[in-house]
Amino acid sequence: MVYNIVLVGPPGVGKGTQGIRLKERYGIPIISTGDILRESVRIGSPLGKEAKSFMDKGALVPDEVVVDIVGERLKKKDCADGFILDGFPRTISQADALESLLEKQKKTITHVIIFDVSEEEVIRRLSGRRLCKKCGNAYHVIFNPPDNVGVCDKCGGQLYQRDDDNEETVLKRLKVYASQTSPLIEFYQDRGVLNKISGLGSIEEIFERITFVLEKRNDNSKDS
Ligand code: AMP
Repeated sequence: MVYNIVLVGPPGVGKGTQGIRLKERYGIPIISTGDILRESVRIGSPLGKEAKSFMDKGALVPDEVVVDIVGERLKKKDCADGFILDGFPRTISQADALESLLEKQKKTITHVIIFDVSEEEVIRRLSGRRLCKKCGNAYHVIFNPPDNVGVCDKCGGQLYQRDDDNEETVLKRLKVYASQTSPLIEFYQDRGVLNKISGLGSIEEIFERITFVLEKRNDNSKDS
């Protein structure tokens, strides 16, 4: 079974965390446009300079920019047997572009996992979120703290708070999600690949729900 997966959901819902686990389980790469853009900002590349102003505001980087990034990445050999897209597509136009890109490689998206959580929960999670600089593992200062403050349990890397995890930018990102990204739900429902899961519960519980969908059942029902 080839898994060409798209993870969709509001910020802070656990897409990145689950993406890392899916990568480990199925041995397929995770492509996170947010991570690629943040790395470009960090090294100060032209792409990073262009993207930074959008990211700082919680706005979307222009479609052409992210479509080019993903197009290049999907051509790499390690995507031949599947991939996990985290944070892309985020607009209908990106989803259309992705379809064309995949068509050229005679591929399609096999599963879209949409994470369902309330806005209040997202705000609660993002306000205390800390990430490892080295491995990307996510923590929460109250609900999932590391053993030692500021240090990753997994790899010893330094933890940091994302610039756009402040309340004002989070609210903006949620608005952008509702207006520009949520139309993807209908888009992928029409293609019969949408699977909605609850984003509430422990990391393990959510992972179970996703693997259940991927391995045992492809819920193609239009009213899911
Ligand atoms: P994320 O890490 O997925 O929450 O993304 C962080 C920020 O990067 C977003 O708020 C956007 O500014 C930008 N970004 C990431 N992915 C995309 C995308 N597919 N389209 C446009 N902007 C994106």
